Amino acid sequence: MIAFSLAILIGSLLKAAGLKDIAIAMQPLGLVFVNAIKMLMVPIIFTTIISGVTSLADSQKLGRMGIKTFGFYMLTTAFAVFIGLLIGGLISPGVGISLPDAASGGAGAPDPDAAMSIRDLLVGLVPANPIASMAEGNVLQIIVFALLIGLSINLAGKKGAIVRQFFDSATEVVFKLVHIIMALAPFGIFALIIWVIGALPVNELFSLIWIVVALYLACLTQIILVYGGLLTLVARLAPLKFFRGIIDAQAVAFSTATSAGTLPVTMSNVEDNLGVSKKITSFVLPLGATMNMDGTAIYMGIAAMFTAQAIGIDLTGAQYATIIITGTLASIGAASIPSAGLILMPVVLGSVGLPLGAIILFFPIDRLMDMMRTLTNVTGDATIAVLVAKSENELDEASYNADPIE
Ligand code: ASP
Repeated sequence: MIAFSLAILIGSLLKAAGLKDIAIAMQPLGLVFVNAIKMLMVPIIFTTIISGVTSLADSQKLGRMGIKTFGFYMLTTAFAVFIGLLIGGLISPGVGISLPDAASGGAGAPDPDAAMSIRDLLVGLVPANPIASMAEGNVLQIIVFALLIGLSINLAGKKGAIVRQFFDSATEVVFKLVHIIMALAPFGIFALIIWVIGALPVNELFSLIWIVVALYLACLTQIILVYGGLLTLVARLAPLKFFRGIIDAQAVAFSTATSAGTLPVTMSNVEDNLGVSKKITSFVLPLGATMNMDGTAIYMGIAAMFTAQAIGIDLTGAQYATIIITGTLASIGAASIPSAGLILMPVVLGSVGLPLGAIILFFPIDRLMDMMRTLTNVTGDATIAVLVAKSENELDEASYNADPIE
């Protein structure tokens, strides 16, 4: 938090003094940190899911946990799109803004056909070549492969014991590496935030400031009302303890804008500070990082409202319902990397016949919004890990209520 605040201060001073280039020159330092946490992503998903599944040899429990996790994901995401639509309607960021014409070949106009369909999403779940999935960092495919290997180790019984022990020990080693890299987090965050401030286009920001405000407000509403509400009312836990425990993960998510990259930090925060068992984190969090993106879903709702306002039309009830469904699906389909939400936005706009040109306006300010979306995505995953842990008796409430370790 100190590094973060200092970076905002120094970045703004550099910019005000016309030394923007120095701020931008911090990017490579930040990227070293981003690379280091991305490096952990594949090993952590692969090893923790396998040791998670082998520690949960009871397949009935696994199935029950899966249903609960998925149910919570859907519920919070549908809420998120709704909040996005609501706040987008209240703040009306698109009124008085004219849209560039994407059809006439505006730069960066997306190809809606390139977006992922539900069919592609399902077929793509099973990796034809798991090594390629790891090389490409295809998280969903790695999860499926790891789940199947874990189940097979369980089925192999005694003969699989050596492989099981290997993955248990590998998980421990990978977590040691997470702790080493996390010690560098303040430096990485410092460099990234200075760079973001230096590279921010001031002019574009002014005309579109309201959409940024709407997104931040909607994300805060989701975090405080939906997550805080679920923790208090459903899990009967103190929400402030929760937010204190995951502040590292939130800071990393905000500065890197990738929830897959943040995953190692999220896992270590949720286990060490919130007392959620490894069984739960190793299952709920990797899945959440790829499928549960409430910040991204909020963005879809706001983008749709913005576009409708800019062209001066009122959406119908059926269109709102379509946006909630396609917004939820697009957030599931979006990869957990920077700007993934921006790339999938045309799916939602296209589903209700809104012009795709709006996306061009979002390009220069996407990073700023991506940071908040990713913070929200990661907070949502952590919330659901706690809820599932509580309902499965896998939450150590003493350590949830204790002061954070890191
Ligand atoms: N950057 C976001 C994430 O990694 C996805 C998005 O672009 O909305 O969670």
